[in-house]
Amino acid sequence: MALLSVFLLDSTASAVNPCEEFVLLQQNIRAEAIAKDSAIAAFKAIIPKLDAYFAQSHRGVSKRSEWRFPIEGYSPQAVGGNGKGYRAYGFDFFAKTRHNPHPAHDIFILDDNQDELDDRTEEPVRVLSISSGVVIEMKNEWSDTSRLRGGKYVWIYDPDSKRIFYYAHLRSVFVNLGDCVVSGTPIGEVGRTGFHAFKRRSPTHLHFMTLQIGKDGLPKPINPYKEMRKWKRK
Ligand SMILES: [Zn+2]
Repeated sequence: MALLSVFLLDSTASAVNPCEEFVLLQQNIRAEAIAKDSAIAAFKAIIPKLDAYFAQSHRGVSKRSEWRFPIEGYSPQAVGGNGKGYRAYGFDFFAKTRHNPHPAHDIFILDDNQDELDDRTEEPVRVLSISSGVVIEMKNEWSDTSRLRGGKYVWIYDPDSKRIFYYAHLRSVFVNLGDCVVSGTPIGEVGRTGFHAFKRRSPTHLHFMTLQIGKDGLPKPINPYKEMRKWKRK
C-alpha cells in the first residue's frame, strides 16, 4: 500500500525521478496493487515527464535510419521461427499476466554448450540499444532459484518514436536506471537468466519486445520483424 500512495498523491510523484515512477508503476502492476484505470492514468502522467527528462540529457536522438539490430555480430536470420514466434493476442500491459502471450521475438546466438559465450569466439555477445532513449527499468541481479521470467533485463523508452523496448534474459547489464543511450549503445550481454530461459531445453537467446504508445496514450505491442531487416548491423 505504501507504493500505491505515490500515485494517489500527485504532489509527491512530481518530486520523484520519472524513471523511478515507472519502476514503481511496474511493481504495482505485477503485484496487482493498483487498479487498471489508476495504472493507465499513472502511465499517461509519466510519459511527458520522461520526454522532458530525455530532452534535458541532450543525449541526442537517433534517427530511424540509424537504428541498430540489437545483437552485435548477428542478423535477422537469428530471429526464431523466421519471425513466427510473435504472438500478441491477449497482451495487456496493465495486467499481471501480461507475458502469457509472446508479443516478442527471440533472437538466438550460437551457444550449443550453453555457457553464454558465442561458440565462434568464446566471447560474450553484446546487446545494443536499437534506438536512442532512456533506461526506465533494469535489473542486474538474478538467482537461479528465482521464478521471475525476465531474469536480468533492461527497459528503454524512446521519446522520439514513442516506443518502449524490453530486452530480457541478459547475462550482464551495462546501464543504470535513468541512463540515456543512443542507437548502438551496448546495454548488456546475451544470457540465460530467467525461470524458463535458464532451463536446458531453452537455447540461449535475447527476448525482445516492442511497445508502441498510440494516439490514445497507451502502450501496445507491435511486430517489428519487417523493419528489423533495415536496422544497421555490426
Ligand atoms: Zn521470448
